Amino acid sequence: MNDKFSLGEFLKKYSNDDKCLEEIKDLRWPKGITCPECGKKTKFYKVTGRKAYACEFGGHQVFPLAGTIFEKTTTPLNLWFYAMFLMIKTRCGVSAKQLERELGVTYKTAWRIAKQIRILMADTDSLPLNGDVEVDETFIGGKGKNRKRW
Ligand SMILES: [Zn+2]
Repeated sequence: MNDKFSLGEFLKKYSNDDKCLEEIKDLRWPKGITCPECGKKTKFYKVTGRKAYACEFGGHQVFPLAGTIFEKTTTPLNLWFYAMFLMIKTRCGVSAKQLERELGVTYKTAWRIAKQIRILMADTDSLPLNGDVEVDETFIGGKGKNRKRW
């Protein structure tokens, strides 16, 4: 996701929670997932009704959100992504009050989302100076970098 990304492209790419979860999974395991249980690098299938993927052989489950800012959230992922989209577009020029209105969440939730995204954006050296703002593993706060925030 960068600041050239249009709202239309955004809505198409991240139209629902599953697509956002898929994106986070791909960011965390860009080369595919090696199952910690059977040791095979294999396809993992989305587990219905859970934010998890299961190994096609033993059914071992992985949780893409573990250790990220999304881990304990009850706010739909596509709203988080939309908040990121707005903040990237405006270089963090969106207030919690605006997010509350745009996302249809409580002020408290909007405030927390804005705060988390700001922390991550401030952590990324390339922000907000250049135009190519990637939502990469650093951005979502990957486990490997010990960036758990809540
Ligand atoms: Zn397995």
